[in-house]
Amino acid sequence: MITTIQSTFEAQKIKSLELRYESIQNRIERLKALKSWILDNKDRIRKALYQDLKKPETDTDISEIFTVTSELNKALKYIKQWTRPEYVSPGLTYLGTSAYIHYEPKGTTLIIAPWNFPFNLVCVPLVSAIAAGNTAILKPSELTPATSALITQMVKEVFNPSIVAVIEGAVEETTELLKLPFDHIFFTGSTNVGKIVMAAAAKNLSSVTLELGGKSPVIIDKSANIKDAAKKIVWGKFVNNGQTCIAPDYLFIDSEVKDKFVSEVKNQTRKLFDSDSSGFENSDSYSRMVNKKHSKRLSTLLQDALDQGAVLEMGGENSSDQKYMEPTLLSNVPSDATIWKEEIFGPLLPLNIYESAKDIIDHINSQPKPLALYVFTKDRKFANELQQKTSSGSMCINDVVIQYSHPNLPFGGVNESGIGKSHGYYGFQDFSNAKSVIKQRIGLTNTSAFYPPFGEFKRKIVDFMIKYF
Ligand code: NAD
Repeated sequence: MITTIQSTFEAQKIKSLELRYESIQNRIERLKALKSWILDNKDRIRKALYQDLKKPETDTDISEIFTVTSELNKALKYIKQWTRPEYVSPGLTYLGTSAYIHYEPKGTTLIIAPWNFPFNLVCVPLVSAIAAGNTAILKPSELTPATSALITQMVKEVFNPSIVAVIEGAVEETTELLKLPFDHIFFTGSTNVGKIVMAAAAKNLSSVTLELGGKSPVIIDKSANIKDAAKKIVWGKFVNNGQTCIAPDYLFIDSEVKDKFVSEVKNQTRKLFDSDSSGFENSDSYSRMVNKKHSKRLSTLLQDALDQGAVLEMGGENSSDQKYMEPTLLSNVPSDATIWKEEIFGPLLPLNIYESAKDIIDHINSQPKPLALYVFTKDRKFANELQQKTSSGSMCINDVVIQYSHPNLPFGGVNESGIGKSHGYYGFQDFSNAKSVIKQRIGLTNTSAFYPPFGEFKRKIVDFMIKYF
């Protein structure tokens, strides 16, 4: 394996030098080839996702296929605009020169993906890598083996391995990959592994995009439309079995609307995930946790909260063997419970009452910066206050999760929840080096005003510039 990793990297290194100056049309052809393969193989993708996560077909179409094809369509539409030199004004000091930003490919890139959206989270960064003119080695998650095998097959059918290749495997293979001097590493996964990736990247000073996890809070104040909030939160929390990086992790609610919210959550959960009343375990709309280990972790989190005095408002049935837990809602969860200390990443939602905006803001600011912050309110001032006094990768008012697929917003975290941004133009930028290019006239240069010797007149010019330029 080590020799394959090394030889794949070396072949891509050589190729990456050629990709620097090739025609943009070649990138377009690669993007089109990837799109055709996906459109021709939707059924294979659906089957792999069902095998790995029991993901409903329509859910796969939305969250694994559409997310990638929309990214491809955007790149195909805008690639010429993105790659054009971006001219900038010379200002007074550089009059007579011309200057622009040339987005050049970074070169060799590594894309490491998690298991929770195992096709999407390999392919979306791949689109940015190709659009920016890079080579890429893809490392899918070992925990979703059917999707990993399918991605390997896809890449063999679509790309020359000197441009895009796959290395399957787990920690050992990723550790070997991380020793190589990639020009850019795009990692999606947990915060702890993100730190390992960044430490490895530091040895080669490879740049990184880190799309990490964490706890994304939801705040519901008494002015919110409770039915609307419950429906949206139920969807965003329980879709993909809560295994979504930006899923609501925990909830703070005003005491006046708590009972109504709990009752609406029960209604909406049945409507969305058990519409024929055959039970969540038999529902075609409810997927499973990725493996028994994660399922066991979730049941331990639930039991710990209950042991400490949390109230079970809904659900609770679970079976690690079946990788199953009913959609579960807890309230009055004591602050010592483990559920407050780690990302939940499963169909378990704790809810507590808040006393004042200050309490919420202080709590959020005492924790690692979230990937997403959600607020349900009709009170503009309250939403603005949360926006200004807290920091998070994204914020969504009166909905959850939807910020991920907005066509014109960057996606990413901040510090513990991530570094760098992805999607569309922002993904293209993370995979590019913004090279500054300036063209001076021959002979003439304003800068000569600053060449020595330095007399009184030059000093006056500099004084003037310090004051006004
Ligand atoms: P993970 O960090 O365990 O694994 C991610 C990748 O890293 C996998 O390919 C894995 O093989 C590799 N890996 C694991 N341990 C490693 C090690 N010690 N050294 C080198 N490589 C290693 O994450 P996961 O469990 O697959 O995914 C869940 C996490 O990902 C959650 O925290 C979730 O919030 C986060 N996530 C973030 C985003 C985002 O866009 N911000 C999206 C999806 C998931």
